[in-house]
Amino acid sequence: MRPEILNPLFGLIENLQGIGSRYNKLVCNLVNGRKIVDLLWHLPINLIDRTYGTPLNRAVVGRIWTGKIKTMEHLAPSTKKQPYRIAAVDESGTDITLNFFKYYKDSLARNLPVGTYKAISGKLEIFNGRLQMNHPDYIVAPEMLDALKSVEPVYPLCAGVSNKLMLKLQKQALARVPDLPEWQDERFLNREGFPSFKVALLSVHHPLKPADLENNSPARRRLAYDELLANQLTLALARERVKKQAGRILDGDGHLCHRLLENLDFELTDAQKRVLTEIKTDMTAPYKMLRLLQGDVGSGKTVVAFLAMLNAVECGAQAAIMAPTEILAKQHLETMSAWAQIVGIRAELLTGKIKGKKRDEILADLQAGKINVLIGTHALFTEDVAFKDLAFVVVDEQHRFGVNQRLELSEKGNKADVLVMTATPIPRTLVLTQYGDMEYSKIDEVPKGRKPVDTRVLPLSKIESVVAGLKRKLATGCRAYWVCPLVEESEKTDLAAAEERFASLQKIFGDKVGLVHGKMKEKQKDAVMEQFRTGALSLLVATTVIEVGVNVPEATVMIIEQAERFGLAQLHQLRGRIKRGFEASTCILMYGFPLSQTSRERLNIMKNSEDGFLIAEKDLELRGGGEVLGTRQSGFGEFKLADLTVHKDLLYTARKDAEFVLQTDKNFTSPRGQALRILLYLFEQDRSLKNYLSG
Ligand code: ADP
Ligand code: MG
Repeated sequence: MRPEILNPLFGLIENLQGIGSRYNKLVCNLVNGRKIVDLLWHLPINLIDRTYGTPLNRAVVGRIWTGKIKTMEHLAPSTKKQPYRIAAVDESGTDITLNFFKYYKDSLARNLPVGTYKAISGKLEIFNGRLQMNHPDYIVAPEMLDALKSVEPVYPLCAGVSNKLMLKLQKQALARVPDLPEWQDERFLNREGFPSFKVALLSVHHPLKPADLENNSPARRRLAYDELLANQLTLALARERVKKQAGRILDGDGHLCHRLLENLDFELTDAQKRVLTEIKTDMTAPYKMLRLLQGDVGSGKTVVAFLAMLNAVECGAQAAIMAPTEILAKQHLETMSAWAQIVGIRAELLTGKIKGKKRDEILADLQAGKINVLIGTHALFTEDVAFKDLAFVVVDEQHRFGVNQRLELSEKGNKADVLVMTATPIPRTLVLTQYGDMEYSKIDEVPKGRKPVDTRVLPLSKIESVVAGLKRKLATGCRAYWVCPLVEESEKTDLAAAEERFASLQKIFGDKVGLVHGKMKEKQKDAVMEQFRTGALSLLVATTVIEVGVNVPEATVMIIEQAERFGLAQLHQLRGRIKRGFEASTCILMYGFPLSQTSRERLNIMKNSEDGFLIAEKDLELRGGGEVLGTRQSGFGEFKLADLTVHKDLLYTARKDAEFVLQTDKNFTSPRGQALRILLYLFEQDRSLKNYLSG
């Protein structure tokens, strides 16, 4: 149950005064939520300083001016195009004209009758040597002047929602903010010069000078820290829970691993060896393992995962690997069944497509323990599949899994250890915020002697010479991908563009060209992919990443159209598909016009680097957080108050702080612990309280 003290913040925006249902919809969309807290997390991005009010004869044109004026004359326009003008004068006797392009005559007559004084505020301009103000922001009674002379925050807005409305709503919302017990460590607050939560929140909504708007102002940092700590506490609690679960000791004698290593035609890299030791340490420990294995495309994760699986098999247990698609599962089967043969164990594939007698057989053998390693899609866990003794699960490329899904996974099987593998390079900050519930291993080295991909950046206008080059390549027996962007907002037109490209390439390359896209049935897709794999097709036009997730060793050329529309991490993944290591391959990034400076920089990063981690870091710098990974939906790593490009240091502190809390006050019972519960509710991380904390 949410602490009562927070109730005022969890009321609905629609109950505020002056909003009505029409505006409510707009505002809720804008602030991304329906509750008062959502509104409060919507922070000003600018300010208007209305304190400036020297007499008009000394005033600075271009600034917001606030002061008292006397109306002298109404000048109605003779044509519709002209503004309604009101001549006025301030206390220094300086003339100013107020212009109204949109107006109601009556209300102007009522508001600014000749001979009366008013306080106004707006941008001072000069035209034909005369001072003027177009549509003053405020026209109020003269005694309101002092109230008007303030600094006004400016909020991010949208069509239909004015700053005035926003100010009105925020004022009501801020009035509801209760005094909350302090959940941060007193000494830490002093050291950082952080105000209390309430003071911080009030002050970010009332910036007095431009510096107050900066992400690094003490008030903003305080709020960012609150949010990050809530995130890190949740993850630490999840981590703790996994650790608390009894696991089993999987300490194989190494005979299968040795046999495989002796028969491989390569040596493990130092990074592979180190990571394998980390995994094995977890597997031999008596708690459950939940570990993330990260490694760039081609860094050799698969063999590491398989060796870990062998460790489980050496103990007489079973292991499974779950791939995100059927195609990738089949690919794992190809690699792994060869290795299984070498060491003399049995690996089988099980997907939704395998039916009837074959399926029954596999299921029976699995239950009897005759299959040591099972390879499949997520269907492995949702259907009638029973293992004899599943002790180890590898999840491949499931970087879109949420924290809670991962926990569920680790609960399947017989106290199974879980290894999550991803080839998406994830910057450290995102690892901490999105995968902070897991232990973490990284293969930070690729096997030596690999040839770099020759990456070129070209405008779309060079398409003819690209096609000519492609012709030459294909004539030598190469295979190539042609990737067209597919952006959700206009899926239809994007698809049409891809189909058009397919048609035009077909005119040149005839029946050697195939097309795959996301709207196709799985069966059709697989058929086309298969033709490309066998070489019946030599050019594959594709619209999405998933479809090119296949290993086709002969494919050494990739052309990416409108490369600027892809995320860098995505481009990196795509390019990884043609990285064959010891052969030369070519990637052509074609861009459309106009290309922004940032886009140009991004494409150049791709041209100059193949280091996935570097690319991801740069992408993060250039575009900020969630987009790098497409994690917008995951619910993690998307912060409302924290900005990881500037608050990195706070994240690291929050991680340590969360660990400290769990070490010293596991059940959140101390005064700080009680206050931290409020923090978790405030940032709607209460699910973690329900799930992981008792009482
Ligand atoms: P990842 O899954 O990390 O993208 P893979 O495991 O598919 O990479 O490995 C890519 C290729 O490199 C495979 O053909 C694999 O057999 C090979 N490989 C793996 N480790 C090494 C190594 N240490 N030295 C040379 N080749 C390796
Ligand atoms: Mg792989």
